Amino acid sequence: MSADEEIATEAARAGTVPRGHRVEIRGAAKRYGAVEALKGVDLDIRAGSFTVLLGPSGSGKTTLLRAIAGIERLDAGSIALGPRIVDDRRVHVPSERRGLAMVFQDYALWPHMTVRQNVGYALKRRGGPRDPAALIAETLERVGLASKHASYPHELSGGQQQRVALARAIVGSPALVLFDEPLSNLDADLREHLRLEISTLTRESGATALYITHDQGEAFALADEVAILRDGTIEQRGTPESIYRSPASPFVARFTGVAGSLAGVVLAVGAGSATVRVGEAELRSAAGADVCVGDDVEVLIRPTATRLEPLPLGSGSVSPAGSRQALPGRIVDVAYRGRGYDHVVECDRGLLTSVFDERAWTRGAECLVRIDPAACMAFG
Ligand code: ADP
Ligand code: MG
Repeated sequence: MSADEEIATEAARAGTVPRGHRVEIRGAAKRYGAVEALKGVDLDIRAGSFTVLLGPSGSGKTTLLRAIAGIERLDAGSIALGPRIVDDRRVHVPSERRGLAMVFQDYALWPHMTVRQNVGYALKRRGGPRDPAALIAETLERVGLASKHASYPHELSGGQQQRVALARAIVGSPALVLFDEPLSNLDADLREHLRLEISTLTRESGATALYITHDQGEAFALADEVAILRDGTIEQRGTPESIYRSPASPFVARFTGVAGSLAGVVLAVGAGSATVRVGEAELRSAAGADVCVGDDVEVLIRPTATRLEPLPLGSGSVSPAGSRQALPGRIVDVAYRGRGYDHVVECDRGLLTSVFDERAWTRGAECLVRIDPAACMAFG
């Protein structure tokens, strides 16, 4: 079954038909004076999928979203929504005729309108149905705001205002919903709740979703697919699992979470892997085809790859020479995380952070950090 068919089947099971736009971006470029915000972005987004564009601040996320929305016009390249080109050298379809809705970081509600009026206004602008009152009531029910229909935005909490914005986005059954860091202004517990609602309601609606964030945890939790943006170009795209397992560059690895990076020299290479001497230890790790014997490399280690062990009996504080997949180190910090403890370990070739163990180790204690070869990668 193809990915599109799978989505269609899932949507049929959920009682919805995917009517999301497929999005096709080719060579998208945009410049503001001396700043090249987008440097030729190519991106395909499957109809009905939930795609997250992840990148640091200033990487061009908002610019790309605004171009898709029709708020900005590209300098070069093209954007197609469904079968229709909406932006290229000749065409620029206005925002309100692109069949999309947006949810912003700062909610952007009309302050002089009640909750019901805010949602109703969006519906009217999209040529709403015969009985808008029922649809508005039902949508407010779905975001848990039925009792607040007569309130004004300033009478609501941030989380409630963002729910109104979500209701306003989905009420007109758009083919595409664009989210620009919608959870950034909210407290942690609320963020988790609203993330779930965004995920559920958007998927139920059958719309295609494009969600931008600089938060890796949020991106991985929400996405069917993640595209990583760096300096105006897409650096990697794939499922969260494939990006975590096989980051294409040190930048992607770092941006999606590493415990640390250790310098070493390549002793041997295999298919997709390398054995690296790091200090006294030998670490097998994933490696690209460009990594060769004798190269100086950096081994980037995922937090999930690390496990703390006591030093073998009798070795005292002396490093066990030539040990495989384990680095001797010293605990320099312990942080309680509820489920257990994150440790900072000083090894002789660098610092490892977020080394998890259910029990707390003593600061200053000698230890071994065992490294899972499947969750570390060497880059030249
Ligand atoms: P992100 O959303 O990833 O933080 P943006 O798309 O907002 O990034 O910005 C990308 C780059 O373009 C940044 O260097 C930013 O300063 C610049 N930029 C964005 N909008 C404008 C603008 N209207 N005028 C000038 N520079 C801009
Ligand atoms: Mg932005």
